[in-house]
Amino acid sequence: MEAQNERYSRQILFRGIGREGQQRLAAARIAIVGCGATGSALVNLLARAGVGSLRIIDRDYVEPSNLQRQSLFDEADAAESLPKAIAAAAKIARFNSEIAVEARAEDLVPGNVQALLEGVDLILDGTDNFETRYLINDFAVRQSIPWIYSAGVGSYGVTMNIVPSKTACLACIFPDSPRGMVETCETSGILNSAVNLVASIAATEALKILVGGVGAPSLRRTLLSFDLWTNDRAEISAAQPRPGCRACGERDFIHLAGEGRPHITLCGRNSVQIHERQRPISFAELDERLRPHGMVRHNDFVLKFWRDPYEMTLFPDGRAIIKGTSDPAVARSLYARYVGS
Ligand SMILES: [Zn+2]
Repeated sequence: MEAQNERYSRQILFRGIGREGQQRLAAARIAIVGCGATGSALVNLLARAGVGSLRIIDRDYVEPSNLQRQSLFDEADAAESLPKAIAAAAKIARFNSEIAVEARAEDLVPGNVQALLEGVDLILDGTDNFETRYLINDFAVRQSIPWIYSAGVGSYGVTMNIVPSKTACLACIFPDSPRGMVETCETSGILNSAVNLVASIAATEALKILVGGVGAPSLRRTLLSFDLWTNDRAEISAAQPRPGCRACGERDFIHLAGEGRPHITLCGRNSVQIHERQRPISFAELDERLRPHGMVRHNDFVLKFWRDPYEMTLFPDGRAIIKGTSDPAVARSLYARYVGS
């Protein structure tokens, strides 16, 4: 306890937290979905702040182009193509070994959302796509778990707290994927400062909820957006659910029912993800088998296989990310040829 008090002494001194608030943080369980730029910053802040239990869910692996903004990762992680969830957990263990971290290198989909998100007090959004956000929203509204939406692109950031049945939910504000957000980090780039600001705001709101509950008076009840380059800033009220909202009004959770989505084309990156659960793969065996067909390399977490112009990254559960094509049919056929149909 003494060591705890020392580690968090500057935060305990802050009157919004105090000793009791710090104990609540230690007892809290959160999930962070997506550990890219925003997710890294959220994880870094909340793990250092002493949130007792973090579940980090991410489907991707570390690449050199991530290092400009994804603050938990380094060149060694990229050289090994480590799954981001695994690399993040290893990094946290070096600055706060006293909290529990669960790394899940998985894609959040309707089939696993219950297993991956149940039992947490709060869900944080570090994803880069609306499909996953609508899935989080449906699950959070159904289970009545608060969550915080965050997004960034270019020099722009946006965030909103969602307290089911008290505030607006994501579908209240955006009944369909917003058109203004079709810009992605792949096409518009992103400033690391915009990501860090949006994560700082969301992490602070998370502390308010974890310490003071969803009724905390200082909890923001707006959709807040800003552009750090133009200095524009806007806030719209999200204090009330929208009558007739598909999710929180009619409780029609269409995204939870979306079983069996076969492929996902990743955000403008000329790559396709293939879901193949229930296909546990022996990396050593596959490495041997692929050797005559191209360059292959594996560690405990990923196997990479290069065959021009494609690059395939396989995870132990059989999931694959194939770079060099945006055509699901091409990706499917490569997978069938080299891994199995
Ligand atoms: Zn709603």
